[in-house]
Amino acid sequence: MFWDKKIETLKPADLQDLQLRRLKKTLHQVQNVEFYRNRLNSAGLKNTAIKTLDDIQKIPFTKKQDLRDGYPFGFFAVPLKKIVRIHTTSGTTGKPTVVGYTRKDLDTWANLIARNMTMIGISEDDVFQNMVNYGMFTGGLGFHYGAEKIGMAVIPSATGNTRRQIEMIRDFGVTTIHCTPSYAMHLSEVAEEMDITLDSLKTGIFGAEPWSETMRHTLEARLGVTAYDSYGLSELFGPGVAFECPERNGLHIWHDCYLVEIIDPKTGERVSDGERGELVVTPLVKEAMPLLRYRTGDVTMLMEDGCLCSRSKKIQRITGRSDDMLVIRGINVFPSQIEHVLLKIPEVGNQFMVYIDRINHLDEMTVDVEINRGYFSGELADLAKLQKKVVKELHDVLELRTTVKLVEPGSLPRFEGKAKRVIDRRGDM
Ligand SMILES: [Zn+2]
Repeated sequence: MFWDKKIETLKPADLQDLQLRRLKKTLHQVQNVEFYRNRLNSAGLKNTAIKTLDDIQKIPFTKKQDLRDGYPFGFFAVPLKKIVRIHTTSGTTGKPTVVGYTRKDLDTWANLIARNMTMIGISEDDVFQNMVNYGMFTGGLGFHYGAEKIGMAVIPSATGNTRRQIEMIRDFGVTTIHCTPSYAMHLSEVAEEMDITLDSLKTGIFGAEPWSETMRHTLEARLGVTAYDSYGLSELFGPGVAFECPERNGLHIWHDCYLVEIIDPKTGERVSDGERGELVVTPLVKEAMPLLRYRTGDVTMLMEDGCLCSRSKKIQRITGRSDDMLVIRGINVFPSQIEHVLLKIPEVGNQFMVYIDRINHLDEMTVDVEINRGYFSGELADLAKLQKKVVKELHDVLELRTTVKLVEPGSLPRFEGKAKRVIDRRGDM
């Protein structure tokens, strides 16, 4: 099940040759970007300074803030008339980041999505419902054109109107869905309410937010799908950067298109395979917006073991974005860890919210979690017991004392796009 077998199974030496050739081309291309001309000049790097792939470590990192400072078109390496699409990434503060695509970029991107979907056995025989935002978010159009390239029937249902989404899955015999894991969970709840079983579904592609192995099992049981993790970010086209193969143990990152480094986020030094750190990527095939050593903020590792499918080195599932990472009384906490704990306790539901406050100079974390009515008798004594249990389980994993509030089923917000389950109120005081 290969879209481009030759490229996907290149021998390491051939792959490195290709990477080096493409890196040199990229270095040439960034000369069209004032930011990089200045950067490379002040680092004393002439074009000839990069002779091997390892020489890339001489080049300074590019950070998200650099892209923001270049708003709107400061990172475009081609004239605007060559740009055929613009996306932006949501900025939580200030201006968004703008990404541009040439016609060739869009084609490259669609081919990468086609690689991913073919890898897990999706073909022109499938019916695909794409339940993500079709606007500026790259997940919508990105998957749309990749799926069309393979030739399956694509339903651009986007987000919203969950009941209608469920009817379409049933009526159109949808086999494959793409959405965020949190929306998939919501979808399964609404299908249950409607008393509809989604028998045609086979494959669920979930991405755009970190999710846990426990969440995978839950989604597979509730939706009757095999669930695959999809990783990407808009600065690197969008989705399609890395994807799970049928082994579902790590994600294949497309090394012919993305030169991967894992660094210690504090020192900027490279770490070895098998060690966790921040993913840094130099895209090797982007025309409109080439980047050098882009710090993704995502935490992962390069996996040492090869894969049965014969594609090259995988990265471990992203456990969190370093900017999703919460530091509570000096302890690092990822929302995905909280999810992981809660999903293992059947008496509580899968919906939760986390609030962080600073009270008397101390960080306090409160977790609101819905009771699962099916498992709970309603006795007050049981409620107190359950609450203690959740506090203990969270403490065992996070090594952090939390306040847990049990709330009514259905009372917490549901999310169609990226879930915003953490509200950090420490800055408000
Ligand atoms: Zn594989």
